[in-house]
Amino acid sequence: MRKIIHVDMDAFYASVEELDNPGLGGKAVIVGGSLEGRGVVSSASYEARRYGVRSAMPVSRARRLCPHGIFVEARIERYAEVSEQLLRIFKEYTPLVEPVSLDEAYLDVTGLEETLGDAGHIGRQIKKRIKDELGLIASVGIGPNKFLAKLASGLKKPDGFVVIKEEEREEFLTDLPVSKIIGVGRVTEKALYKMRIYTIGELRQRPLDELVENFGKWGNALYYLSRGIDESPVVAEWDPRSVSRSFTFERDVKDLLAIRRELYRLTEDVTGHLKDTGVKARTITVKIRYSNFKTITRSITIVPPTDLTEMVWRHVDTLLKEKVTLKDKAVRLVGVTLSNLAPAVTEEFEQLCLFKGLNTSLDEKLQRAADRITKKYGSGSLKKGLLLP
Ligand SMILES: [Mg+2]
Repeated sequence: MRKIIHVDMDAFYASVEELDNPGLGGKAVIVGGSLEGRGVVSSASYEARRYGVRSAMPVSRARRLCPHGIFVEARIERYAEVSEQLLRIFKEYTPLVEPVSLDEAYLDVTGLEETLGDAGHIGRQIKKRIKDELGLIASVGIGPNKFLAKLASGLKKPDGFVVIKEEEREEFLTDLPVSKIIGVGRVTEKALYKMRIYTIGELRQRPLDELVENFGKWGNALYYLSRGIDESPVVAEWDPRSVSRSFTFERDVKDLLAIRRELYRLTEDVTGHLKDTGVKARTITVKIRYSNFKTITRSITIVPPTDLTEMVWRHVDTLLKEKVTLKDKAVRLVGVTLSNLAPAVTEEFEQLCLFKGLNTSLDEKLQRAADRITKKYGSGSLKKGLLLP
């Protein structure tokens, strides 16, 4: 049986602002993407929440609800810095850490009982260290899978600590509204209501056939999730056999250009890492997570292996265009993974590839030159057309 910990920071952005400006402590702090015009709230302290202020609400509305609130513009870089510190703590316990966003991560601590203690012990330690070392409060949930661990971390927020045991999972779920299931958004919820399904317990009563008929593959997932069954693995961002980077948009996007821009940046990032470590990759994978948390990956394996930004980008872009359905779907996260790594090949091998027409020398030379310029003068010195505003 697996042991998964989900750590979720409480009112993360607002808490970091309080940390950096002690005068804000205990006040109604509201962090917005932009405080003018059409900005939305990205985080609100628990004091602000008492007045009904919520994430994703227009800042203008938050001002009406909480006129004495302290409105602060978001400083994503600072939050990313604190997020790195969090990851460093998590990785002292296990390399199997999957960050979901700046303030949330899954840890797979299966099999660590003998060395580090059971999941409950590790979870408590992590919670305490976040408080002692970073001065921040986290809610921690523990369960036999990701779904239940995340559910657990949300049950007693803020400062929560909840363990769901394997044998308690159905009992925990029975009376909860279906919206508590990861991926059940307003659309699914509405469809379930039409079928007179309001709680997870009611969902569990329905046969698999009926759910598949109504929701396709997603119906299959609902059938198992309603029983607290979720086999999805914790996927570490760092794996010595691959290099992976992902980016979660502050708000879900439908704009293809914005998606391509981020994918290009991630491509620069992963290929830069390959060059630093002297390896090349054979397999290129694009990851897209939609707003309903459905995640798809599309891969291609190429010969010869490469570490060239433009080469990888061309494949990433092609995978996106040909293998990913974006039409009208909002995207929450994008990622690029390079795997099937091999030490940078010898010149001899490269020449063999050239000889066999597997590469064009001019192309390769141009790209090498471009990569050298980027390396020397930093990312952005050679801006791709698509990156220009
Ligand atoms: Mg949070």
